[in-house]
Amino acid sequence: MPRHRRGAGRFSRGQAGMSANKAAANKGPAKAIYRRVALIGIGLIGSSIARAARAARVAGHVACWSRSAATRGAARRLKICDSVHDTLAAAVKDADLVILCAPIGANADLAKAIGPALKAGATVSDVGSVKEAVLRDVGPHIPGGVHFIPGHPVAGTEHSGPEAGFAELFRQRWCILTPPKGADPAALARLADFWRALGSKVEIMDPAHHDRVLAVTSHLPHLLAYTIVGTVTDLEDHLRQEAADAGHVIGRSEVVKFSAGGFRDFTRIAASDPVMWRDVFLNNREAVLEMLGRFTEDLSALQRAIRWGEGDKLEALFRRTREIRRGVIEAGQAGTFKPTEEKKR
Ligand code: NAP
Repeated sequence: MPRHRRGAGRFSRGQAGMSANKAAANKGPAKAIYRRVALIGIGLIGSSIARAARAARVAGHVACWSRSAATRGAARRLKICDSVHDTLAAAVKDADLVILCAPIGANADLAKAIGPALKAGATVSDVGSVKEAVLRDVGPHIPGGVHFIPGHPVAGTEHSGPEAGFAELFRQRWCILTPPKGADPAALARLADFWRALGSKVEIMDPAHHDRVLAVTSHLPHLLAYTIVGTVTDLEDHLRQEAADAGHVIGRSEVVKFSAGGFRDFTRIAASDPVMWRDVFLNNREAVLEMLGRFTEDLSALQRAIRWGEGDKLEALFRRTREIRRGVIEAGQAGTFKPTEEKKR
């Protein structure tokens, strides 16, 4: 499956890696929140945690594991962790905090494999974009005496892999923790401190509530982006075929040429990792279908307003949504869209 590993987010890969590594190398030991942190998966999110934790000096040692030799090799080359391990057991050995940073669909097997190697008193967490499924898949494999507190940093880019991570990814972004009933308050507070040290704002939430909120704020927008980009490219294929049949010269792709007309922002979202998003939809089925139902009704209402020339209805909605965008900017959650981005060669 193609993965967009190249090109970093707002910071170049070199910059981000350098700043985190330099900070880790140049400063002596600080008050680490965890003595040893193990990251299971070292892609965009795992490598950003490693970089941020080392930059903030909140982990005495950052260990990692990745499934493929290629990604483990990249993690070694980039020097984003203190140790890179070929086996899961070696990575989690003696760790005080273990964070699963792989696609949601991999969690059950990973949890089953690490369970016997976990240290008593350790905390296991994750970064998955769906939370009830993580409780279902990981919870049964966590041995007694080990804390289990799922989490979701609401931060990311459309890029994947260890090269794409950067230490500043979580700065001013929310991290939602969804502790199961009876979770140890001290373990929860410690994990919240860890995320705050990485720059996040922390919110505690019920997992089912998390899944409904994220279905509408993140999962549905991604689904729409995937759909729109698919529809537009299918349509262009048809138009080009029609033009070719009529004997016309076919020029440059109009999708690319006129993409500034709104389409390009969808293409950015639609470039997100296919495996990660497949797992999100398979594991948050009910909530996404509920939000999709509501969305379809609202879309039909707009369709009707356009058909009947009800401009006042359209304008009222567009005014409301413009206010929402302003609120997002004021809340410091707008992100950077780089409207003047350079043309890639
Ligand atoms: P990524 O860059 O693609 O990295 C994925 C990591 O998981 C890699 O180390 C990969 O190993 C490993 N992996 C993939 N499939 C696996 C499998 N079947 N078994 C074991 N390991 C596997 O992904 P990411 O963007 O960091 O996303 C990781 C998690 O973060 C996902 O659960 C996602 O829901 C969550 N998340 C992502 C974002 C975002 O914007 N990307 C935001 C918030 C949360 P190899 O490379 O060695 O194959």
